[in-house]
Amino acid sequence: MVFENAQTQLEKAKKHIELTQETEESLKYPSEAFSFSIPVKMDNGSLKVFEGHRVRYNDARGPTKGGIRYHPGVSLDEVKALAFWMTIKSAVINIPYGGGKGGVTVDPKKLSKTELERLSRGWMRKACRIVGPDRDIPAPDVYTNAQIMAWMVDEYSTIVGKYSPAVITGKPLSLGGSLGRSYATALGGFYCVKEAVEKVKIGKTVAVQGFGNAGSHMARLLSEDGYKVIAVSDSKGGALLEKGFDFKKLSEVKEKERRVDAYPGCKKLGPTELLELDCDILVLAALENQVTKENADKIKAKMIVELANGPTTPEADDILHKNGKFIIPDILANAGGVCVSYFEWVQNKQGYYWKEDEVNAKLHEKMVKEFGATFDIHKEKKVDMRTAAYVLALGRIDEATNAKA
Ligand code: NAD
Repeated sequence: MVFENAQTQLEKAKKHIELTQETEESLKYPSEAFSFSIPVKMDNGSLKVFEGHRVRYNDARGPTKGGIRYHPGVSLDEVKALAFWMTIKSAVINIPYGGGKGGVTVDPKKLSKTELERLSRGWMRKACRIVGPDRDIPAPDVYTNAQIMAWMVDEYSTIVGKYSPAVITGKPLSLGGSLGRSYATALGGFYCVKEAVEKVKIGKTVAVQGFGNAGSHMARLLSEDGYKVIAVSDSKGGALLEKGFDFKKLSEVKEKERRVDAYPGCKKLGPTELLELDCDILVLAALENQVTKENADKIKAKMIVELANGPTTPEADDILHKNGKFIIPDILANAGGVCVSYFEWVQNKQGYYWKEDEVNAKLHEKMVKEFGATFDIHKEKKVDMRTAAYVLALGRIDEATNAKA
C-alpha cells in the first residue's frame, strides 16, 4: 500500500520530465531487498525471533542511505517505500547518496534495555552483509535513537575488526556523531517554513502531530521564533491550548508523564481531531497515511509541513492541492536529517569534526537552495510542490544513471 503510494507519486511526476528508459527501469524495483530473522534471548531466558529488513533501493548517485525503524507495523512493503523515498530525498537535497531503509517488526516499548541491545546487535549481525561505509549507511528512524546506533556501530566494528564510524549516522557524539544531528530534521523543516512564509503569506498558529524527535524539535524551533503552537499530539492522544503551549513546560510534562495530553489546563483531543483544527500551519511528524481521502477535505490549515515520511496519500494530495493548500513535501521538508547525516559521514571519513554553527550554516545553505529550486519548478511547470521536488530529483538521478550508460 505505501509502496503503491510512492509509485503513484512517481508516475505523476514522470508526466513532467522525460526520463531515459534506463532510469525508468532502474526505479521499478529495489536493487536489494533482504528480510531475515533475529533470534533474541529474552531476560526470562526464553528465545524470541523477530523479523528484520534492509532494502537498498537505488545507488545511481552514491551509497544507499536511510534509517532503521522499530515498529509493530514494519513490513517489507513499507521498508521498500521508505527506501524509494530516500532515493528521491537524497537527490532533492543533492547529496551523493542513493536510498535505503531498514526495520524490525517489533514494539520496542515492550522490550527491556538489555533485550533492545541484543535485538539491535542481532540486526547488525545479519545486515552487515549489505551495509558498509561505502555501500549502505543506516541511521535512526521511528523508535530508534543514538543509543541503538551506538550498539550497532560497535557490533559492526567488532565484525569487521576495525573502528568504522562511517557505517552508521545519528551516533552519540562520543562515537563520532555530528553536532546538530539530533535536531537536524526539524531544523531543515523549519528553514523550509521560513522560506515558504516569504512566498505564501500566512499567520503563525501551528498544530504538530507527533511529539518525538522530529515533532518536538519543530515545536521548539517554531515557538522560539514567535509562532504559537496551539496543539500537539503523540500516540496516546492530543492536546489543545488556544493561548499556545509553553514549550519548556510541555517537554517537562512529556518527559514526566510520557504523554502530551497531561499538560495542565489543555483540552484533550481525539486521535484525528488535531489534523482538522483551525490553524495556519499543520506539521505532520508521526507516521505515514495520516491524511487520506476521508479527512483531506476537513483540513483547515493553509500550509502542511511533512516531517514524517509519506503522511499524505496520493488521493488526499489531490484534494489538498484542489483546496489550495501549500504542502512542503516530506522529500524536501524532512531532508535536513539525511543532510546532516551526510555531514556526519563526511566528518567520520575526514576524522575532523565541525562546530555546531558550521553544521547548521551548511544545512541552511542546502535547504534554502533546494527549496528555491523546487519552488521555481512548482511555478514554471505549474505543478504542486511534491511533483516539483520529484522532477528536480528525477532529473539528477537520470543524469547520474546515464553518465554510466
Ligand atoms: P519518534 O519515534 O522520535 O517519534 C514519533 C512520534 O510520533 C512519537 O511522539 C509518537 O508518540 C508519535 N505518534 C505515533 N503514532 C501517532 C499517532 N497516530 N498520532 C500522533 N502521534 C503519533 O520518530 P521521529 O524520528 O520523530 O520520526 C517521525 C517521522 O519523521 C517518521 O515518519 C520518520 O520517518 C520521519 N523522519 C524522521 C527523521 C529523523 O531524523 N528523526 C528524519 C526524516 C524523517
